[in-house]
Amino acid sequence: MKWSDWPRGTHVESRWHSIVSRGQIPHAFLWVGLEGTGKTPLAWTLSQALLCPHGRKLYPCESCETCKRVERLSYPYLWFIPPTGASLPLEEVFHKFHQVIQEQPFLSLIEWELLLLEKKGVLSIGIESVRYVQSLLKLAVPNSAWRIVIFWHAELMTKQAANALLKVVEEPPPNTLIFFLSTRMEALPTTLRSRCQIWRFPSLTPEELSSLAGEQLSAAYLSMAQGSYGRLRRILDPAQATYINALREWLRGILIQESSENLATAIDTLAQAPRLSELLLMGVSLIRDHPHLSLPQKAVGMELLLKLADEIEANLQPLLLLWETTLALRTQWRLPAFDKSWLSG
Ligand SMILES: [Zn+2]
Repeated sequence: MKWSDWPRGTHVESRWHSIVSRGQIPHAFLWVGLEGTGKTPLAWTLSQALLCPHGRKLYPCESCETCKRVERLSYPYLWFIPPTGASLPLEEVFHKFHQVIQEQPFLSLIEWELLLLEKKGVLSIGIESVRYVQSLLKLAVPNSAWRIVIFWHAELMTKQAANALLKVVEEPPPNTLIFFLSTRMEALPTTLRSRCQIWRFPSLTPEELSSLAGEQLSAAYLSMAQGSYGRLRRILDPAQATYINALREWLRGILIQESSENLATAIDTLAQAPRLSELLLMGVSLIRDHPHLSLPQKAVGMELLLKLADEIEANLQPLLLLWETTLALRTQWRLPAFDKSWLSG
């Protein structure tokens, strides 16, 4: 993802220009915001701006050798530090992350977890990763170039690791910039937070989402994306289209009951969706923004879908749960009961 792909005039751009023009680049940033709001690609492209010899640190030229090396993550003094699983060799994990993040700058934590552990497990940024960073920061850097460390999902840093970092953040080697990218502020100890310049990343606006996607998006897509470009990309993924359609058909079928066969097909398709719980969260936004549901109907519908997403996450049977929720929604929305003849058939 390139800096030039971002919409111009964002709050991040103006804040960056302001600190660069005042010569007040901090030693450490803590960027907090939901997944998919651009923290990772922006930390990356602003690092490029800092390192590029042609853009006065304000923006990267995107064509010089340094810019290209930063983009390929082959620049020797820029390091991403992602959370890792116990007993995995660090350098191998970092290498894998570099490969993956280049293909998917909006990689989600769950995607990383699945890639790394092949099933859900416990990820963290531990003391070994911090020791690794400390050793990197001892390397001599030619021509007093900047060195940049980006902690990805810093909220997963262990207490021990965060404490070990305190001294580095307080008295970093010259020309060092550390980014802590986090979805939760409170997950990091106050001692560390207080040494960082904190920037909050709000959800992206519909205009920003459309601009990043390079097309005008329908209200339903914007609603499902909930201000996250990462989520929007997954929605727009052609492999996902069948399931998104099924989700919309399902909600439509519950509301109008015009073709019960369509409803049954939609449920069968949904039950096979590889990321059903995330899909259901998109359904929550569809209900929230639905033009024909009353406020109480929306409230109860959103609650039922969130509960369903939780249960699916816990690996319970999706098909059965989807049918239970279908009937519950119908009852709670005070719609006439289904004709049971086709249900049993
Ligand atoms: Zn450049």
